[in-house]
Amino acid sequence: MLSVAVVGSGPSGVYTAQALLQQSLVPDVRVHVLDRLPTPYGLVRYGVAPDHEKIKSLQNSLRAVLEDERVSFVGNVGVGGADGVSPARLARLYHAVVYCVGAAADRPLAVPGEDLPGSFSATRFVSWYSAHPDIAADPFALDARSAVVIGVGNVAVDVARILARGADELRSTDVPHAALRTLADSRVRDVHIVGRRGPSQARFTTKELRELGALPGARIVVDPAELALDPAYAAPGALPASPPLPAVVRRNLEVLRGWSAGGGPVAEGLGTPDAVRRIRLRFFLRPVELLERGGRVAGVRFARTAPDGAGGVRDTGAYEDVEAQLVLRAVGYRGVELPGLPFDPVRGTVPHRAGRVVRDGAPSPGEYVAGWIKRGPTGVIGSNRSCAKETVASLLEDAPLLESRTAAADPLAVLRGWGLRPVEWDGWLSIERAEVELGRSLGRGPVKIPDWPGLLAAARDGTGTGER
Ligand code: NAP
Repeated sequence: MLSVAVVGSGPSGVYTAQALLQQSLVPDVRVHVLDRLPTPYGLVRYGVAPDHEKIKSLQNSLRAVLEDERVSFVGNVGVGGADGVSPARLARLYHAVVYCVGAAADRPLAVPGEDLPGSFSATRFVSWYSAHPDIAADPFALDARSAVVIGVGNVAVDVARILARGADELRSTDVPHAALRTLADSRVRDVHIVGRRGPSQARFTTKELRELGALPGARIVVDPAELALDPAYAAPGALPASPPLPAVVRRNLEVLRGWSAGGGPVAEGLGTPDAVRRIRLRFFLRPVELLERGGRVAGVRFARTAPDGAGGVRDTGAYEDVEAQLVLRAVGYRGVELPGLPFDPVRGTVPHRAGRVVRDGAPSPGEYVAGWIKRGPTGVIGSNRSCAKETVASLLEDAPLLESRTAAADPLAVLRGWGLRPVEWDGWLSIERAEVELGRSLGRGPVKIPDWPGLLAAARDGTGTGER
């Protein structure tokens, strides 16, 4: 029997487990899917926005994998770090370990004032409204009137949409109750989403962009003159035929053209006419400094940029200050070094060859990576499927060698012997029931438990006490 640990129960981890189940080269396989949290599903639970119910429903297919009799979910077990099991110790328990730990940190903006109170990484805001237990003790206060979101990727669009949506619309989701109350009391009226390059270089996808223009209670504002600084927007027919614009860019530009069709210096797009909030989509503004007043962020100074003709931008020498009492930096994720595993600090990934971890220049059979820690934080959830398959193919090639090594007959017993208290699938089901119960007591559907004590209590006895 081949005994495999998968570290991380997000999409890449679960797709890795699924690829191990679906192969026929090594029929007798046992997979333990470990997670530092007592809850499965990684970014599907703690990253996908609560109002994206269709994407969230992916949990059902991930669940089917974790419920397979050859798979065990082993939550509340950290790997690496001060309190975690080291990769060297883990390697003694299993024939192979596949690290699917994602990209847990946010990329720094590296401008003065980045750490002022009122300036946060978007990932922190996402963790807050997703009830990630690591930030339960540090809630957001949405007393800003104007918010700036830096970056034009899907995370920027997600956080802007949550800021612009009324709390009433989120009530039917599993957003934690304290966050829902804060969103209901939010004073935010203007949300600026700002890209340093042009609309044809924006990273958001069209469905996500279009959604911004269809929010009840919010209007989208674009400036046709600013959009037209981008040659691909202004005169697509005049562009050299090769290389053609990717389909997603063409569709994004069509949406933006639709919004600015009204003409005038600033066109207001869809959304209700009496909308209380404005989403202002801005381009060609590079953040150079976060401005401070009274010890808090008061705005962002941007350098006005212009296309350089090669997909990049150059500064024009002009500046623009945008007022903001809340700044969310949505400039991408970054992988974090896991002590005991090789790490490429420039790429923020673990060096690998077709998923095999490379140590001292050579592949290290028994250690693998899949997902964002392997290829960087790009792509949609489905991209993890082929990524996991490639890694599992490498693992299976190595299987004859791996099976000749020893593995623990009962890894969980060893983990318990090391002082860990794993939360198994029953514990997770118990958390799910507690979340249904919590929601019922609040007159809502299932509501996420946002704190460690609450999650662990729910896992152990189904009660789920603790701060909500
Ligand atoms: P992303 O797609 O890489 O976008 C990052 C944005 O930040 C880009 O606009 C980038 O501009 C900008 N940026 C980077 N450094 C900057 C700087 N120093 N100053 C100003 N702007 C800067 O990252 P993401 O939004 O975090 O998303 C990560 C992945 O998750 C993506 O694959 C995304 O599609 C996926 N995701 C998907 C969904 C969904 O499907 N609904 C939701 C969330 C996330 P440049 O292009 O100029 O570098």
